[in-house]
Amino acid sequence: MSIEKKTDRKIYFIDVTNRDGVQTSRLGLAKLQKTMINLYLDEMGIFQSEFGFPVTSHEKNYLNANMELVKKGIIKTIRLGGWTRALVSDVREGFDNVPALKHLNLSISTSDQMIIGKFGGKKTREDILNQTLEAIDAAKACGAETIGVNAEDASRTDEDFLMKFAKAIKKQGASRLRYCDTIGYDDPYSAYKRLNRLATEVGLPLEMHFHNDVGLAAGNSIMGAKGAIDGGVDAYINTTVNGMGERAGNADFASCLLAILKTSGFKDKYKIHQRIKLNKIWKLAKYASYAFDVPIAINQPAVGKNAFAHESGIHVDGALKDKKNYELYDFEELGRGEPEEIETGSQITLGEYSGIKGFRNIYENLEIEFKDEKEARKVLELVRYANIHTQQPLKDNELKFIYKYPDIAAKIMTINP
Ligand SMILES: [Zn+2]
Repeated sequence: MSIEKKTDRKIYFIDVTNRDGVQTSRLGLAKLQKTMINLYLDEMGIFQSEFGFPVTSHEKNYLNANMELVKKGIIKTIRLGGWTRALVSDVREGFDNVPALKHLNLSISTSDQMIIGKFGGKKTREDILNQTLEAIDAAKACGAETIGVNAEDASRTDEDFLMKFAKAIKKQGASRLRYCDTIGYDDPYSAYKRLNRLATEVGLPLEMHFHNDVGLAAGNSIMGAKGAIDGGVDAYINTTVNGMGERAGNADFASCLLAILKTSGFKDKYKIHQRIKLNKIWKLAKYASYAFDVPIAINQPAVGKNAFAHESGIHVDGALKDKKNYELYDFEELGRGEPEEIETGSQITLGEYSGIKGFRNIYENLEIEFKDEKEARKVLELVRYANIHTQQPLKDNELKFIYKYPDIAAKIMTINP
């Protein structure tokens, strides 16, 4: 492969907030909030959102309603991808539940630790491989356009078996291999080496999926991506908004994106597949923080309260002379800098027991007028239901969404146990 071709390879972002992020212990998102996240990610220009679990019955209406948003052109460019186990039965059930699904990731454990520790000696490496190949066939037969295969615990998987696994899934028609560093075992150097070997020997596009158990998720993600691209294949980085995810979380989206755009080894050398609207990061992070009800840490990269704050004498003096002295990137680029209005006087919020007066007042402030009383009552009813789901005062974007797409909103919020 020529050098020129290698440098054509690009980095793509696959957000997994609505899949890995919501698996986080003690935390979760209502289906309406998951939908808002998909809309934000779409607006930002993210390549794909892993938007949920087609086999989980309470996701069904939400997933189908979001596919409807795609069909209607409300979700414009982002791909919505589902996640299932690499089992023929899961794949078929997933497509039965969500017939419009086009993109799917199939997950299976590949390390001996998990093959023995999870399957109790009932499965061999060969069984794992065969099961995966059958699941790929099933996904193709169901109409999947792209199929990612997740090697769970890839970082602890015997390297030769991982190569064999990757070659076999490529031959079977998989679009990508997801290298899952499920427990945060890699470091940036090992991530580079293992991903680079996969890229060079197998030639299949690679997904980076790193967890933050020792605080290296973002570093591993970008070095893994570098390994993939240097080896001649496209790299897809799995991130979550604000690094939400199981245990210590996943790779933080803002950190990974800024690392590629701003650091010495990546800036102008590694390209992102499409223009991501960096200036939406602030809004996205704030919304996710509200929806998860998890505050943004004061020192969080890019979006933390202190990310652009200076106090000590030498730093302040330097920053006042030229902010480039002590800031790697500008807050304006991230959509920060607008003063935020916080109501400190009388306030009306909307919730599950709201009446028509307060409801009308709030929608008037959003400059939304209803055709007639019937329409207002219908939207009010939906707003009440939305609050039952979120258990938080509804945000402007949520209220606008419910008003604009009442039928889709109703479907998203419908769960029949
Ligand atoms: Zn994960």
